[in-house]
Amino acid sequence: MTHTTQPPPAGPGRHQLPSYAQTLRPAEGSSVLPRTGRCTLVGAGPGDPELLTLKALKAIAAATLLLVDDLVSDAIVALAAPGARVVHVGKRGGCQSTPQAFIEKLTIMAVHEGENVVRLKGGDPFVFGRGGEETEHLRAAGIEVTVLNGITAGLAAATSLGVPLTHRDHAHGVVFITGHAKPGDSGTDWRALAATAHSARLTLVIYMGVSGARHIQNELLCGLPAHTPVAVIQNASLPQQRQAVCTLGELQSTIEQEALCSPSVIVVGNVLQGLLALQQPLSQQSRRA
Ligand code: SAH
Repeated sequence: MTHTTQPPPAGPGRHQLPSYAQTLRPAEGSSVLPRTGRCTLVGAGPGDPELLTLKALKAIAAATLLLVDDLVSDAIVALAAPGARVVHVGKRGGCQSTPQAFIEKLTIMAVHEGENVVRLKGGDPFVFGRGGEETEHLRAAGIEVTVLNGITAGLAAATSLGVPLTHRDHAHGVVFITGHAKPGDSGTDWRALAATAHSARLTLVIYMGVSGARHIQNELLCGLPAHTPVAVIQNASLPQQRQAVCTLGELQSTIEQEALCSPSVIVVGNVLQGLLALQQPLSQQSRRA
């Protein structure tokens, strides 16, 4: 049986090592341990286990310790070997997520103990997954890290609607962008982005954008027409997937009406034109033509 460990409850000592990890500590006064383990950062894709790469599947099955982020589906965690230890380090159960430094410390200790550590991240580990920061820190600590790509949520979300992100007639490129800046960061200049997307014919794929959708909509409207097609896709690739297609001018009201929430991606651009046309009465279509 796979052993699943939830993060310790919030409160003082919340980020002390989980009990099993205590056994990974070097004994007092012991010399530096040999580095026999390894660490693989694995992209778990958007949720559907069938969207995993074969390399990801093999790495998950071979892991002795899995450190699992939020948004990795249970069906994927279930692919771990019997006896593998699973630690959820995301925000499950309303707990705070485990600090990055703590996850890195745990990974380093486990690798030094000879564990085959798989760090499972939703989508692609190098797309908004803080995979870059994590590999930099682990490499700085002398840990070799292998990274395996996963299908990023924005790509899976568009494909689930049958929509390409680029198209010779509608979009010459695509921008993956976060709607949620790092604390203290001024964030995206949405107006400049909208103007560029309009002139260069780019599709925008916005991650973590639902809670800030009103602001994003208002700013994008400074550079893109209100009738620009938009889709909001929640839980892409999972059985509970929901989506709505509307115009940029209707983005926030549609999110509210349809009660769409995280995890969702927002796709903005003319690649959605055909899909939007299917949703709208002929009278509106001719007005926008
Ligand atoms: N590394 C991930 C992104 C992590 S950031 C990737 O490549 O997909 C987390 C955000 O990704 C969520 O807030 C949401 O915007 C998006 N996301 C992740 N999984 C999703 C899914 N199944 N459906 C829709 N959006 C998803």
